[in-house]
Amino acid sequence: MDPEVKCDIKGIEEAANILLRSKHAIAFTGAGISTESGIPDFRGPQGLWKQYSPEIATIDYFLQHPREFWLFYRVRMSTIFTAKPNRAHRALAELERMGVIKAVITQNVDGLHQAAGSKNVIELHGTMKRAVCMACGRVYPIDVVIRKIDSGQIPPLCDECGGVLKPDVVLFGEPVKDFDRARELALMSDAVLVIGSSLSVYPAAYIPIFVKEMGGKVIIINLEPTELDYIADVIIRCRAGDAMELLLEKIVSAKNREVP
Ligand SMILES: [Zn+2]
Repeated sequence: MDPEVKCDIKGIEEAANILLRSKHAIAFTGAGISTESGIPDFRGPQGLWKQYSPEIATIDYFLQHPREFWLFYRVRMSTIFTAKPNRAHRALAELERMGVIKAVITQNVDGLHQAAGSKNVIELHGTMKRAVCMACGRVYPIDVVIRKIDSGQIPPLCDECGGVLKPDVVLFGEPVKDFDRARELALMSDAVLVIGSSLSVYPAAYIPIFVKEMGGKVIIINLEPTELDYIADVIIRCRAGDAMELLLEKIVSAKNREVP
């Protein structure tokens, strides 16, 4: 990451204008919005997959080696559950409160949008806040699961049926969640604010494509080039926190000018 990257103020202004003119704007977020909260990005230069083989996060690995999976996952949970929402999450929640953003579609599983106050959140890749029994489908809050693991029950098991619990996250090889709802939202949107996603994971990356195909505007905030830069109307190449703070400022001051 280059600390010298400066936010392009012209880009921020253009993005603010698009969002202010929109009737139904949504946000689409990826790991890059949470890096400032100390959660390592999976694919970036400091990414998790530089330390671990992605094979460990496949459904096949989980089914064959639930104990090893949970030992890896327990460490990852420690990082995520101490993380707090950052200024990008908070600014986005504020835009939703103001009615500028109608929904957040996220690839993240950290729950930080909800912690920041976002209400209408679609978690395409599930959430780390729950686990679910592979046998009977019973859902467990993650703190109950952590207690099971920390008392030596690895993998953690269902109280009802003894089945193996799986984190309620989408592992590689599993279908995404709520995609139909997300697609419906995208197709009715006239703008999408993409924050911190390399837009390289499908089907999630179809969301901005749907908005574009329906004639909507695409704003991308990301430190590095993304695979869908060519469909963007505005690209803001800077940290999510810096960009979102400036964007919120612009929108708030424009709104204040509207009201006599
Ligand atoms: Zn069960």
